[in-house]
Amino acid sequence: MIDPAIARRIKLIGLDVDGVMTDAGVYLGTVGGETVELKRFDIQDNVGVRLLREANMPVAIVSGRISPATTARAKELGIIDVFQDDGAQKLGAFEQILARHEVGWDEAAYLGDDLPDLTLLTRVGLPVCVANATPDVRAVAHHVTAARGGHGAIREFVETFLRARGEWDAAVERYVNARGGLPEVTHVA
Ligand SMILES: [Mg+2]
Repeated sequence: MIDPAIARRIKLIGLDVDGVMTDAGVYLGTVGGETVELKRFDIQDNVGVRLLREANMPVAIVSGRISPATTARAKELGIIDVFQDDGAQKLGAFEQILARHEVGWDEAAYLGDDLPDLTLLTRVGLPVCVANATPDVRAVAHHVTAARGGHGAIREFVETFLRARGEWDAAVERYVNARGGLPEVTHVA
């Protein structure tokens, strides 16, 4: 449950990557002598992010790890505000994103799973964590998703959040209508 009064105040949503958009696993290997990092993302989360767009809700990514996989995922989801930093200096980064959108801390939601997220979770108006979050993070969260990161946690959060705002049905209708055209079907011989 998310408090409807809090949900209706929110104007921007921040997402952590590892453990929230993914299951926190990273595949590391080498291809042609180059180190390659792969992450596993959840396709149901795509729908969640698209529904937020239908509801005109900006989404930002704040990660404490620099990874081309994160950049590719952000591009795929159409997320423009992306901050990646090995030093996990999330506070200053998110502050800049909020300033750019003229959104106050109390008007932001953030989804996290571990200690690097605490600086943001203790400041935002709607702190949310995933089922796999550590105890310190759970302790400050207003809402804990039933789903784990990388397993539809974002999709689940978006539905709970939009329902709390009374915007779920309208967002789904816009989403479905936007995809009501005749698709071009590719036949593979
Ligand atoms: Mg994390």
